Amino acid sequence: MKLTILGCHSATPRWDAHPTSQILEVKGHLFLIDCGEGTQVQLRRYKVKFARIKHIFISHLHGDHFFGLVGLVSTFRLLGREADLHIYGPKGIKEAITLQLKLGKSWTNYGLYFHELDHTESEVVFEDDSVIVKTIPLEHRVYTNGFLISEKITERPLNINACRNLGIDKIYFNKIKQGGDVKAEDGSVIKNETLTLEPGAPKSYAFCSDTVYLPSIVPIIKGATMIYHETTFLESHKDLAIKTKHSTAKEAAIIARDAEVGGLIVGHYSGRYNDYEDFKKEAQTVFENVIVGYDGLEVSF
Ligand SMILES: [Zn+2]
Ligand SMILES: [Zn+2]
Repeated sequence: MKLTILGCHSATPRWDAHPTSQILEVKGHLFLIDCGEGTQVQLRRYKVKFARIKHIFISHLHGDHFFGLVGLVSTFRLLGREADLHIYGPKGIKEAITLQLKLGKSWTNYGLYFHELDHTESEVVFEDDSVIVKTIPLEHRVYTNGFLISEKITERPLNINACRNLGIDKIYFNKIKQGGDVKAEDGSVIKNETLTLEPGAPKSYAFCSDTVYLPSIVPIIKGATMIYHETTFLESHKDLAIKTKHSTAKEAAIIARDAEVGGLIVGHYSGRYNDYEDFKKEAQTVFENVIVGYDGLEVSF
């Protein structure tokens, strides 16, 4: 998986600090997660191909997480897009976007499908042969979900050296990849395990958007390869975190530690802070592998 942070700051956009938006590349998909103002400019800056975005996941209807959406939907039309676009987000998102298009006497010439969410339990919102996306119910000032994107267990890759050494003909390769055994010339059976390698462990990424410290998400994101968890405040402003229903860096680290994840990316910093290393320092008092999120950060895992 490859994650590109397009923006990870809270509230108002600045020239060098964009609101929340991320691109996750997984098994050939390019998922856009949240779409704050300026997202399409950031997509251009980091050379993301617009046409490859077919699924957009929106955590909640605060402006810093979706004010870029109608602009992007509109640009897709201007670019002559024909492929369907699926948008997953809180109930009301369809009305918010379609009203703006309607008042401008505009519409899309491609299929625009809204998948409105209102469950308070984790649910599957997207699934195909290789990937599954589930919601992570969060608690914020409005209805909010994070998203857990997981790879499915992949087929065993071909052990090309073993196949060559045993003189296996190429015509059997597909059968082997699908788990089949092969009969040798002397009639003996060569087991699939001899001709394939162990598949890598499936990866997963949890996007935990705006939320209070919420231990109930720990079982949902347990063992994730990487998580992003908002850290709007430091512990010194814990009163503000409680009041505005956000988290501190330390609280995000407690979630990461308790969920035994591989790494924690922090972000959604309040504009009152200048040094984002302070978020890392505070989080590392609890959990070691902390990455400071910033616009343009790329993380592969
Ligand atoms: Zn926010
Ligand atoms: Zn919010």
